[in-house]
Amino acid sequence: MKPVIGFIGIGNMGAPMAQNLLKAGYPLVVYDLREKAMEDLAKAGAEKASSARDLASRSSIVITMLPASPDVEAVVLGPEGVIEGAKSGDIVIDMSSSYPGSTKMIWERLAAKGIRMLDAPVSGGTEGAHAGTLAIMVGGEEKDYEACLPILEAMGQNIYYLGKIGAGHTVKALNNLCSACSMVITSEALVIATKLGLSPDKVIDAINSSSGRSWSSQVKFPNFVLNNAFNSGFTIGLMNKDIETAMRLSRELHIPMFVGTTVQQLYNHAVGQGRGDDCSGTIIKIIEDWGGVKVRSKEGG
Ligand code: NAD
Repeated sequence: MKPVIGFIGIGNMGAPMAQNLLKAGYPLVVYDLREKAMEDLAKAGAEKASSARDLASRSSIVITMLPASPDVEAVVLGPEGVIEGAKSGDIVIDMSSSYPGSTKMIWERLAAKGIRMLDAPVSGGTEGAHAGTLAIMVGGEEKDYEACLPILEAMGQNIYYLGKIGAGHTVKALNNLCSACSMVITSEALVIATKLGLSPDKVIDAINSSSGRSWSSQVKFPNFVLNNAFNSGFTIGLMNKDIETAMRLSRELHIPMFVGTTVQQLYNHAVGQGRGDDCSGTIIKIIEDWGGVKVRSKEGG
């Protein structure tokens, strides 16, 4: 019999991930601060919980998909939190993109009560969440990973066990730093090309058949940027948080990250401009302003 899963944080990513768990036949209890988000899942067959504690008391696996570590700490360890409702032997899987130091602290607090924990952040965007094709980066005890693998497989396709607790969150932050860097450098290249009168569509096609290509050039530019859609579902604010996690690791290890520092300045500046809730692809607008051009395909206008 499949275990009851509690899912907390039914946002852009959590909602389709929870839907995929229902489709795979898992009994599901959901909790979110937004009643509407819970209603949508209830219509698909999930039960609603009244708090994180209530949810944990009704499930043996608890998944969190929240914006950032402070939210995970509040939901797991705070008043009416998961720790108050969970039983010894239950497993908490934090699939948010969190700070590994916080993850280890939560893991220690849970372990004192016999509750286990994995970190299992994802990559692949809202599209991958809907399609159930997310990449999932896992940290924690290997036996807990093996026990939870069928659950992860209901949401993702490429699943990597990376090591001890926090390893998944570490790799996710480093991945997103790489992604942010490729987004910025591709934006810079396209602003120069556009200023020189070249067609951005042709330039991106050429790059995508050449050695400068990346996930940003192959997926983000055609789908969210050049067509002016800017609807990736992943915000500047979330990207800025992930970059800060990676830079925090670099500071803790006293290893400079010069490129990362520069890219962080751009995203941090965008947040300072009040654009934290905008699509992460809009970072190009800062560079467009410097160049005095707009990099858009003909169709996108
Ligand atoms: P989101 O803001 O759309 O969803 C977060 C949800 O958590 C919201 O529904 C919110 O109401 C809920 N929530 C916040 N605090 C809560 C609390 N205290 N109790 C209960 N519910 C609470 O965010 P998202 O885009 O789904 O991202 C979630 C995580 O996944 C983030 O860590 C993000 O960095 C990561 N991520 C996002 C994407 C993407 O494309 N959006 C891709 C990969 C990873």
